[in-house]
Amino acid sequence: MIVEQIWTGNAYRNFNYLVACGETGEALAIDPLDFRKCLELAEQRGWTITQVLNTHEHGDHTGGNKAIIEATGATLIAHRDAGGRIPHVDRGVGAGDIIKVGKTVELECLDTPGHTMCHICLLSHTDQPALFSGDTLFNAGAGNCHNGGHPEELYETFRHQLDRLGEDTLLYPGHDYLVNNLAFTLDREPDNEVAREMLETYRDQDPDAALVTSLAQEHDINTFFRLQSPSVMARLAEEFPEIGDNPDPKTVFLKLRELRNTW
Ligand SMILES: [Zn+2]
Ligand SMILES: [Zn+2]
Repeated sequence: MIVEQIWTGNAYRNFNYLVACGETGEALAIDPLDFRKCLELAEQRGWTITQVLNTHEHGDHTGGNKAIIEATGATLIAHRDAGGRIPHVDRGVGAGDIIKVGKTVELECLDTPGHTMCHICLLSHTDQPALFSGDTLFNAGAGNCHNGGHPEELYETFRHQLDRLGEDTLLYPGHDYLVNNLAFTLDREPDNEVAREMLETYRDQDPDAALVTSLAQEHDINTFFRLQSPSVMARLAEEFPEIGDNPDPKTVFLKLRELRNTW
């Protein structure tokens, strides 16, 4: 499996992806908003884009569909319930469905509601797994729930799906929010030295060659994975005394999500 992360350079800071089979040169384009960059890169590499996947229905993920499909004839894949919101879906997928790319790549669909209720993450079946997480999980952060999502569903997705992924899983999110999210982590957990060092190192990183974290690193720096951290809980209780000294993980998650909305 060959992965190309494509920085769009837009105000929303989107990442697009090409995932290719090294044997056949067939490629899957994930959320190819910047269709020109995706098409150019595929051409440079000698790849053929045969499939497009939208992780969810938001315009900054679907906006390149028409142009890329006109140029390549690729089939369009999305959550099976997204059909009303994404035009011209050829294949609707749900939990456990497999997307094959060429001969060598298999990607498993995870049904991950929360950011929206029709959100798919892809988990590669490779020696070193990779997660294409759309707007569900970001470097050091979690998706918002303003536009068609629900925080409680997002918590359930973290608890029952993301928490179970292997530590060596590489994270390929839909946006570059690393620096802002690390600042939020440090606001919530000022003694998090791993996050502090990462922020210093990557504050001015080139998004064209962005840091790719593993889930092991995310467990250290992502507040939404650190629900039982004593300092996260103590800081939160300062703001929300009603949660008490020993809040359950769901309460912590929901309060963090609420704070991040206005932070
Ligand atoms: Zn979104
Ligand atoms: Zn987005």
